Amino acid sequence: MNKQYDLIVVGAGPAGLMSAITAARGGLNVLVVEQKTDIAWIPRTCVSTLYTTDCNGELVTVDGDRWIFHKNDFSIKYTGQWKDCWKFYHISPSGYRIRIERDTVPAGKAFNKETLIEDLAKEAKKSGVRIQCGTRAVDIKNLKKGVVLTLNRRGKEEKLKARFAIGADGLNSIICEKLGLNKYRRSYGVMAVCSYVLEGVKPAYPDTIMCFVGKGKMKSRYIFYGWPRPARTKGDKNQWELLYTQFVGGNNLEAPLQAFMKDGNYASWFKKAKVVQKRGCVMSMRVALPYPRVENTILVGDAPCWTEVEVQSAIQYGYRAGKGVLDELKGDPGLDEYTDYWKNTYEYLEPGRTERANWGYVIYVLDDDDLDYLFKLMDNKILKGYYEWKVMDYVRQVLEAELPRIAKERPSLVPKIKNLLPPHQLSLRKFVSI
Ligand SMILES: Cc1cc2nc3c(=O)[nH]c(=O)nc-3n(C[C@H](O)[C@H](O)[C@H](O)COP(=O)(O)OP(=O)(O)OC[C@H]3O[C@@H](n4cnc5c(N)ncnc54)[C@H](O)[C@@H]3O)c2cc1C
Repeated sequence: MNKQYDLIVVGAGPAGLMSAITAARGGLNVLVVEQKTDIAWIPRTCVSTLYTTDCNGELVTVDGDRWIFHKNDFSIKYTGQWKDCWKFYHISPSGYRIRIERDTVPAGKAFNKETLIEDLAKEAKKSGVRIQCGTRAVDIKNLKKGVVLTLNRRGKEEKLKARFAIGADGLNSIICEKLGLNKYRRSYGVMAVCSYVLEGVKPAYPDTIMCFVGKGKMKSRYIFYGWPRPARTKGDKNQWELLYTQFVGGNNLEAPLQAFMKDGNYASWFKKAKVVQKRGCVMSMRVALPYPRVENTILVGDAPCWTEVEVQSAIQYGYRAGKGVLDELKGDPGLDEYTDYWKNTYEYLEPGRTERANWGYVIYVLDDDDLDYLFKLMDNKILKGYYEWKVMDYVRQVLEAELPRIAKERPSLVPKIKNLLPPHQLSLRKFVSI
């Protein structure tokens, strides 16, 4: 244990790389450890859409090859392709839609995450960051003045010391676990996600991100997502990704994807589809941490959040974390500034927010017939903006406003909806099961 760094960052995702870049630009000696051997290989499913509305206290726009973070006043380079998605639809079994659209800018801009990570890694190396791939952090201990990380590289353990550490190791963060912070976080369950990257799909709504709900011709009710995905290399065929999710412990995750493509209501879109990559992830849905710090270690990005912080916010918080470490080393309370910023901007720390977002998905316990009826009520309303979890808040508001009409037209549905409204939280587990 001879080498000592100013900062060791665990995880070379968007949060880790941005915090490393920021700290190294300020002159710190920074090491990033990453368990994958190829940073830009992304086996983890991610819709990879840039949100064009305010998100977690920041507004990000695109100008040429730069993403501009307006409120924090910095930018990053992205040399990859875009696929603008003007619409976002939740679609009922018979094809009625909850429609989210925007007029002047796309509802979301799909980017290629492999290229984004490659660009960030290039920038990190240019700034003097050392990136060590194929290395998994397995433990962390805070010392009086510093931290010691236990790393595993090809089966061999080594210990490295640093003045500070950043846990940017994603949703199932080992750093968060080893710091003992997960015991304060209520769990909503663990979701398993499986997705196919496809070529040759012919969707009826080509520039649209879609969430398919209900049962349709499938064996049981489902949630699938589908969205256009820009290829990594210019000139390559357009891609489309189809995602299926269920609670951990269920059956083979690929079977529903295959059934949806072959026998589902939208099978005609997939007649010539070819699977070019399989991806997946396990999402531990834990309540967000209000204070993501233990002594000389802070948590950034997905690690302290509820389900997903979003790529742009991972970069934003990575930037603030890197600045925090720089300030702390200058003798200012930089880590407290970082945790204050997190507490004041991360939207899922707002009381009731997580429950409201969950509620939206809970309505999908309803039968196809009820879902079709409710979606039909909403099909002629266009909601502005796109931010996945907020959408469900809009849905709740629309349904609450429509309750008198529903009471007249379909009285049997009213108690079911009321029963689902907060605080009668159903467990998420009840609706995603196969
Ligand atoms: C289904 C799904 C859809 C999504 N859609 C979108 C979307 O449309 N738009 C959007 O902006 N975001 C989306 N997200 C969220 C987005 O993927 C994350 O918020 C973002 O990637 C978080 O970045 P991060 O750097 O915190 O973590 P990650 O991107 O998860 O990076 C963590 C890194 O740490 C590494 N690592 C983990 N453990 C260790 C360890 N012990 N030692 C060393 N390295 C380790 C991992 O290999 C990985 O490289 C989606 C996520 C999911 C699951």
